[in-house]
Amino acid sequence: MGMVMPSETPAELIVHCATCARQAQTFAPLCQHHATHNREIYTLYSCPACQMLFWWPLKADPSVYESEGFEAYEDYHSGTRPFPRWAEPLFRALPKNVGAALDIGCGDGAVLSRLAEAGFEPNGIDLDQKSIQVARGKFGLDKAVAMTLEDYTRACQERGQRFDLITFFEVLEHQDSPQNFLAQVTSLGNPCCLIAGSVPNRDRFLARLDRKLSDGDFPPHHFLWFATRPLKHLLERAGFEDVSITRIGALSYFQIVGKLRSLISRRAKFWSRSMQFLAPPLRVAAYVVAVVPWIGMRFSPSHLFFRCRVPG
Ligand SMILES: [Zn+2]
Repeated sequence: MGMVMPSETPAELIVHCATCARQAQTFAPLCQHHATHNREIYTLYSCPACQMLFWWPLKADPSVYESEGFEAYEDYHSGTRPFPRWAEPLFRALPKNVGAALDIGCGDGAVLSRLAEAGFEPNGIDLDQKSIQVARGKFGLDKAVAMTLEDYTRACQERGQRFDLITFFEVLEHQDSPQNFLAQVTSLGNPCCLIAGSVPNRDRFLARLDRKLSDGDFPPHHFLWFATRPLKHLLERAGFEDVSITRIGALSYFQIVGKLRSLISRRAKFWSRSMQFLAPPLRVAAYVVAVVPWIGMRFSPSHLFFRCRVPG
């Protein structure tokens, strides 16, 4: 597992912000990540103008999505991933006039299948062939395809296809060129097309612990670390209108208790027989301990949900 550690300042290098092209600075104190996946060393930069945090070298490595290195992808491939809670705000306020929907990075098709139930025509793309197989097999989404956004955009332009709703949940933070990505999204949308999606909140409760437990928030997986202001700035700069950002993703008290209790049960399997007596009282203690993350998540939820429109 890679880690963040201070080290020597890298050789003089001029790096520009991934959003606004202003000259960025290395994050202070210097943060570097040694990725085990591709043995690359990445450095965290911050933009003094828009407060974006991003990792350099800013260059995507698609092989990371096939490698099953992260738990979430294993879930996608086995078709057992729960519905993403950060997509819920979309379904609380779905537009009444349904039309063609495109989900970019559709994974196993959970969001698309709910959009189809609401009356939308479900179209989806994902780089990961295995997830697309699950989307087709589990939800019957025959318009979900394994393709890059570039190829899909070209194909849509050739057949004159555009969409009324475009979503991308947990996709933007993976981009090495977010402006280019959002320009392609714009070209795929009808006038007034609704855009919605989510990114991890870099200031979420226990983010540091989260990053110690998993490499998932680091490159070559995540390149961009968002907070409300830089996310709003990026979407407005890309030309979208009526941009609103909602902080979401806090688990309920009983969901946290459930997670803690199942964590204890999983760990207890590896304990010696003489230690087993500890498991039942620890499972009871979970009801008390859960109060801390429950309060923390109220103040700093795990995700940022965004909603905006292509100009009319
Ligand atoms: Zn910037």
